[in-house]
Amino acid sequence: MIGLEVHAQLTSLKSKLFCSCSADYRRLPPNTSVCPVCLGLPGSLPRLNGRALEEVLKIALALHSDPAHETVFYRKHYFYPDMAKNFQISQYDRGGGVTVAKGGWLDLTLGQFVKRVKIRRVQLEEDVAKIVYPSSLLSSEYVMVDYNRAGVALCEMVTEPDLSSPREARLFIEKYASILDHLGVTDTSLEGSLRVDANISIDGGERVELKNINSPKDVEKALNYEVQRQIMIVERGGKIEMQTRHWDELNRVTVAPRFKEEEEDYRYFPESDLPPIRIEQDFVESLRAALPELPDQRAERFVRQYGLTPYQAGVLVSQKRLADFFEDRLGVA
Ligand SMILES: [Zn+2]
Repeated sequence: MIGLEVHAQLTSLKSKLFCSCSADYRRLPPNTSVCPVCLGLPGSLPRLNGRALEEVLKIALALHSDPAHETVFYRKHYFYPDMAKNFQISQYDRGGGVTVAKGGWLDLTLGQFVKRVKIRRVQLEEDVAKIVYPSSLLSSEYVMVDYNRAGVALCEMVTEPDLSSPREARLFIEKYASILDHLGVTDTSLEGSLRVDANISIDGGERVELKNINSPKDVEKALNYEVQRQIMIVERGGKIEMQTRHWDELNRVTVAPRFKEEEEDYRYFPESDLPPIRIEQDFVESLRAALPELPDQRAERFVRQYGLTPYQAGVLVSQKRLADFFEDRLGVA
C-alpha cells in the first residue's frame, strides 16, 4: 500500500508566501532573497500572498477536491536548521484544523483500466531552506544552508494509500505534474519544484515514510528499494518498524535518520499571527469556470481531433511539453 504527499512549489508567483521577497531564488546567490519574516526574526509578522491561495484552489479544483469555506494556518514545530524560526507555517486537518480543500481524485490509466486514486487533502504551506550537502547524505562532514527557498509557497497534496506498486506511484506523480504544468501554477522542469514523501507498507507491516524524493523516477527507485528491503526483513523473521527514512540519491539506498520524529512531536497549534481565511463560493466558481484544458480533456480531444488511440493520446499528454510539441508540429505541417 502506497500513499503519496507531493509538494509543489507555486513557481508562477513572484513573491514568497508570507513576505515580498522574490520567490525566483534559483538565479540568486545564496541567502540574498531573505527578510525578517522568512528568516523568522522575532517581532516579524507574516502576511498571506493572496495569489498563492488562488493557485492552490486551482489545483484543488483540477483534482475534484472540495474547497473549504474557511481555512486556517497552523504552526508545525520542529528543531532543524532549514527553518530558522523552529516552526513551519502549514495547515492541519485534525483538532479543528481545516485545509484549503479536502477529498477528490485523480484517474490513472493503467493499460485497459482506469484506476481512481483518492485525494485526502490539498493544503498551502511555506517551503523551508535548502540544505546543501557537499557530498552524499551519509558522508558529508558539514552542511550549508540557503534561506532563499524558505517561505516560498508550496502546495501539499496528500493521497489516500490507494497505489499498489512503485510503478503506479511514478505514473501518478507524472500525471499530477502534467496537471500542474497545464494549470500553469508550477514549472515542474525546475530543479526541486516537485518533491515527494511516499508512505509504504507491505502485508501486515508498519508504515515506512520515505522523505524528500526529487523526481518521479527516483520515487519508483526508492519504493522498489524499500519493497525489497521490507520483504527481506520479513523473510528473515524480522518486523518492519514504523519509521521515516531518507532517499540517498547518490548511493541509491534509503537510510534511517539518527533521530525519530512523530506527529505528536510537531505540537501543531493555530498560527495566531494569521487570521482565518474566508473562501467565497463565487470566487471558487469563477476560478472553476476559468480552468484551462487539463490532461484528460486534452487526451480526449487528441483522440477526437487527430484520430489517435487513447494510449497514444495518454502518452502525449503525460507531459505538457510533449503534447505542446506534438500540436506545434501539426501546426507547422
Ligand atoms: Zn522574506
